[in-house]
Amino acid sequence: MARPTVAIIDRQALRDNFMLAQSLAPDSQSMPMVKANAYGHGALEVCGALADMAPAFGVACIEEAIALREAGVKQPILLLEGTFSKDEVAIAAQNDFWLMVENTVQKEAVLTASIDRPVIVWLGVDTGMHRLGFQPGEINTHFNELKTSNNVAETMVIASHFACADDLQSKATDEQLECFDQSVSSLDLSSGHAFSLANSAGILAWPKSYRDWQRPGYMLYGNSPFSVNQENADQLKPVMTFESAIISVRHIAAGESVGYTANWTAQRASSIATITVGYGDGYPRQAPNGTPVLINGVRCPLVGRVSMDMITVDVTDLDSVNIGDKATLWGPQLTVNEVAAFCDTIGYELLTRMPARVPRIYIN
Ligand SMILES: *Cc1c(COP(=O)(O)O)cnc(C)c1O
Repeated sequence: MARPTVAIIDRQALRDNFMLAQSLAPDSQSMPMVKANAYGHGALEVCGALADMAPAFGVACIEEAIALREAGVKQPILLLEGTFSKDEVAIAAQNDFWLMVENTVQKEAVLTASIDRPVIVWLGVDTGMHRLGFQPGEINTHFNELKTSNNVAETMVIASHFACADDLQSKATDEQLECFDQSVSSLDLSSGHAFSLANSAGILAWPKSYRDWQRPGYMLYGNSPFSVNQENADQLKPVMTFESAIISVRHIAAGESVGYTANWTAQRASSIATITVGYGDGYPRQAPNGTPVLINGVRCPLVGRVSMDMITVDVTDLDSVNIGDKATLWGPQLTVNEVAAFCDTIGYELLTRMPARVPRIYIN
């Protein structure tokens, strides 16, 4: 007794993807990014599956970090956007949260906090993304100010983020690397320090970007950040299988339409299967006619509009189709990237916005 719409999460695939990240940059550490509920996979369970391998985890904000800490996650947790208000510095110090410091407001909050143990600071440099971080020429000043504060732990991490590492042809990544090396070359690094640059795309395709800490996100969930084949990315194992089942089958004549707005009309006598999954489950409403859906493992085209709780698929070419048969929206045999491409978005978005209505089922 249960709606058959579920996301099956393969913990072994997750661990294998993490080991791939670690093996590509074996002399340094990889910190799994588990923001946005671990890209929709369930942050607590992902942290649990990686608990004996991951040195730390990364989240977007302190609320995500507190939830993990309260649920028993032991590792340090990096707040990728740092603090949003001053009081968060004390909570971070108490809970072993590491703070990204990206602007002078965040810096002042750290310097003036009344805390009895220092926080680990990750100092953000803007090497070309132009979203967060200090200007390369100012880094020296901020670094020195933080370094001499009792509120800041001795080992600081200087970090930056790539804008275009998913584009294997782009010159931007090399330019950002050059900018980074140039801007840190002026620092007095006599006390402890470390560096961090690479996201998934950096880890998979830009070995020049490896530093002390890597920050793999999307790749851990088994999907490629690239739109073309890439040797390392091709080894990734999709972690999530989003599946549902057929709840109705009907036969319609040529000329009949299907679904809201009747935006698809049968050109031939057709068999239509209705599946109990819709945009209320995170299946994208933008999915056009022809988006592939696996019915019993065979690709069939979506036809008609995606509804809140249902979709309709043309199964005319299948030999036999019955109520209860399995439908797979994405997974190892049909990547979320492929579905996303039909919908004019990226797999990152489809995964992170999957709602709680879809039960996550953990295997392996
Ligand atoms: C989300 C994020 C990452 C991970 O990016 P992926 O492309 O998912 O690997 C790394 N670093 C920062 C700062 C991030 O915000």
